[in-house]
Amino acid sequence: MEQDAVSTLIEWIKTSSQIVFLTGSELCYEAGIPDVADKNFNPDINQYKNIPEVRKKYWNKIKEYYPKISSAKPSPTHEAIYEMELLYNVDCVLTQCADGLHLKTGSEKVIEIYASINWVTCPNCGKDYKIEEVISELEKGAEVPSCKECGNDRIKPPISFPGQALPHWEIRESWMRLQNCDLLIIVGANLEDEPVASFPFQVMNNENKVAIIGEAATLADDYVSAVINGKPSHVLPYILKQLKETTIVS
Ligand SMILES: [Zn+2]
Repeated sequence: MEQDAVSTLIEWIKTSSQIVFLTGSELCYEAGIPDVADKNFNPDINQYKNIPEVRKKYWNKIKEYYPKISSAKPSPTHEAIYEMELLYNVDCVLTQCADGLHLKTGSEKVIEIYASINWVTCPNCGKDYKIEEVISELEKGAEVPSCKECGNDRIKPPISFPGQALPHWEIRESWMRLQNCDLLIIVGANLEDEPVASFPFQVMNNENKVAIIGEAATLADDYVSAVINGKPSHVLPYILKQLKETTIVS
């Protein structure tokens, strides 16, 4: 582990007044589940709307993975972030994961940038359903679920499929939080797609601090002064331990 970067980040966490975390797909994989917000997991929105076979295939996949997602336990990364929230000045957790695991851990200030797999919305009448209700319809034999109010069979999780705009409120709120933070800690996020790819640059443009933790390299690594390569589930608990050991309790 890059000890200089670790020491720098520990100092930053202690002295920052508004810390924002940004987490991504490495956290899903560590929890043993697929990244359901990933564009490769989801069909193109126009194909989903127009081709019944595409909808059938999508819901088959959700039916297959959902038991795994619903029983997934938060990883040591989720736990460490939650504990930092309790101990330091964490403003919020922005996450690219749509699995609800930060909320399951107890984190309260979570913004799910790509929305969540835990509910399903009707594009026609706007009615929301819990994913469990929809899964039970599938288990009773439906190949594609439909809205109980209006019968529309194009209902879907609010997750943005390829070709679809990102959730408006979540993105606007994320920009606002980044504008006001003095430290952004990126954990296990690939930063390949906009607008998330620009998040670290916005914070640096405001002359604030950015740290990156993760197994895979990101396009922002060369511009950021604290980069720690490694599994988030090793690095985050290590940093938390160091933080606790070097914090004087008065
Ligand atoms: Zn409806």
